Amino acid sequence: MVNKGQKSGWNLRSLNFMATLTRENKQFAIIGLGRFGRSVAASLHKMGNEVLGVDINEKLVAHALNDSIATHAICLDSTEPSALKEAGIFEFDTVIIGIGNYIQESIITTLNVKEAGVSKVVAKASTEIHGKLLEKVGADRVVFPEYEAGEALAYMLTKPAILDRFDLDPDHSIVEVLIPAEFEGKTITELQLRSLYGLTVLAIAEDDKNFDINPLPNRRLHQGMAMVVLGNNKDIKRLPI
Ligand code: ADP
Repeated sequence: MVNKGQKSGWNLRSLNFMATLTRENKQFAIIGLGRFGRSVAASLHKMGNEVLGVDINEKLVAHALNDSIATHAICLDSTEPSALKEAGIFEFDTVIIGIGNYIQESIITTLNVKEAGVSKVVAKASTEIHGKLLEKVGADRVVFPEYEAGEALAYMLTKPAILDRFDLDPDHSIVEVLIPAEFEGKTITELQLRSLYGLTVLAIAEDDKNFDINPLPNRRLHQGMAMVVLGNNKDIKRLPI
C-alpha cells in the first residue's frame, strides 16, 4: 500500500484516496514493540489515534514513550491473561499482535485476546504455518509484512502507474492507478471498462483533494488524473499501464 507512481516526468504520490475513507480516530493496542509493532504504533499515533503499546521488554516500552510513538506504553507478559485484563487490553476493539519471531508467545497472546472477546485482532506471522496457526486460534487478519513489502516493491518497480492497492482477497483488489495514455479524453462508457476489463470504477481523482466518487458513465478521463477501480487481479493486470 505504499507505492508511489512515477511516469514520464510526473512524480505523483499516491492520492491517498483509501486513507481518506477512514477518518474516524480509534483506539489501538499493539502488543510487541519490535520493528513491526513500532512502525504500526508510530503510524497510527501520527494519524491521531489513541495507541497503547505493550512489550515484555522494559527498554522497548521506555523507548516507545520517549519517541512518542504511543499514547501509553506498558511492560507486561502478554501470555498472561490476567496481565492483559489488568492493563485493559480486552476493552480495545482492535488489537495488533506484532510478535513474529516468538511463535508460541504470538499464538498464546492471540488466543488470550480472542477468548476475552476482542472483536478485531490482527496478528503478524513469520511463516505460512505460523499464519495458519494464528487463523486457527481466531486471528481476524493475519499479515506477512516481509512478503507483503516484497510484493509491493515488485509492483512499484514493474507497475509504477499503480499508486495504491488494497487486497480484498487473494484474487481481488481495489487499486488506484494513473489514467493511462490510451484512455486520454475518453469517457468511462466509451472505454467499456466493465464489459471489456470487468472493472468497476469507484472514483476518479483529479488531484489529492477532488474525488468524484461513483462517477457518472459520461465522465471523461485525462492523463494526470487517477482512478480507483475494483476487480479481479488478472483483469487489473490487463490495463494498459
Ligand atoms: P520484529 O521482527 O517486528 O522486530 P519481533 O518478533 O522480533 O518483531 O519482536 C517482537 C516483540 O515482541 C519483541 O520486542 C519482544 O520483546 C516482544 N514480546 C515477545 N514475547 C512477548 C510477550 N510474551 N509479551 C509481550 N511482548 C513480547
